[in-house]
Amino acid sequence: MGILVVGSVALDSVKTPFGSRDDVLGGAATYFSIAASYFTDVSIVGVVGEDFPEEHVTLLQKLGIDLSGMERQKGNTFRWKGEYSFDMNTRTTLDTQLNVFAEFSPKLLPAHRSIDYLFLANIDPDLQRSVLEQMKRPRLVGCDTMNYWIENKRASLLKTLAMIDLLVINDAETRELAGEPNLIKAARRIISWGPKILVIKRGEYGALMFNSDSIFVIPAFPLEEVLDPTGAGDSFAGGLMGYLAAVGATDDSAIRKAIVVGTVMASFNVMDFGPKVLADLTYPEIEDRYRQFRKIAFFEDITGKVDRV
Ligand code: AMP
Repeated sequence: MGILVVGSVALDSVKTPFGSRDDVLGGAATYFSIAASYFTDVSIVGVVGEDFPEEHVTLLQKLGIDLSGMERQKGNTFRWKGEYSFDMNTRTTLDTQLNVFAEFSPKLLPAHRSIDYLFLANIDPDLQRSVLEQMKRPRLVGCDTMNYWIENKRASLLKTLAMIDLLVINDAETRELAGEPNLIKAARRIISWGPKILVIKRGEYGALMFNSDSIFVIPAFPLEEVLDPTGAGDSFAGGLMGYLAAVGATDDSAIRKAIVVGTVMASFNVMDFGPKVLADLTYPEIEDRYRQFRKIAFFEDITGKVDRV
């Protein structure tokens, strides 16, 4: 059981109220794969330029991440520059330089085509479908997107959505995609277009999950110090899919646990700039925070009877 992830590998320059960093390791596929690497084998399909530092390659390899599908092309690595507001809930993109990512057209290696779990990180929905179509028969396909594709490539995005199982997007994207301000109604509409499971990320307010017969709601893990939220969504998706791949199940109970695991991985990630904390964890630390979170979110029946829902 492994996961193949296709998406950006980047050098990010980030400014938050607590400091700034230039050219740190970033990208959706990077954050996703580091988080997922604690649970299962992960292979990245992506592209970097000649300037991509060797130390980043070493870090990813140390975590056991397969980089045979990460091409190195002539030119510079994809660069993203962003700034966060005082409460960290609003992010402004200051600059995006696609560089080698502009010509990215992934051709999967034969060994990657039969991987069971596939995550299509935020890239052009045409590319997402081209990767999906090269796969033999994945057990579960997850997908992310962003407002740019919702606004500029809607028809293509809807085609991709018809082919996937799990969509992981934020609340603003959910409302925009569905054209519906109420999140519950928006989720129902999106589910009717294809994805069996919709997970809505709500930043510091947590996450919501919808499938055909249930809804699950959890808060974010409460932290006193959040230094940089970059990659929270991707490390959330990495923990979620990594856990599902590890347990080999997609029933409601597995999905609920997977969402908690995703929340835990995102909470580690936001504690510092770049993926430093996320890349330096031990499995017992992850289990420990999962159990602390279980205590925080637990409540009994109104009668006080210990019960199971
Ligand atoms: P997140 O904070 O989880 O939404 O993801 C942030 C990561 O997405 C950063 O590390 C960026 O390098 C990457 N990113 C930003 N803009 C784009 C884009 N247009 N396409 C692909 N990846 C992007």
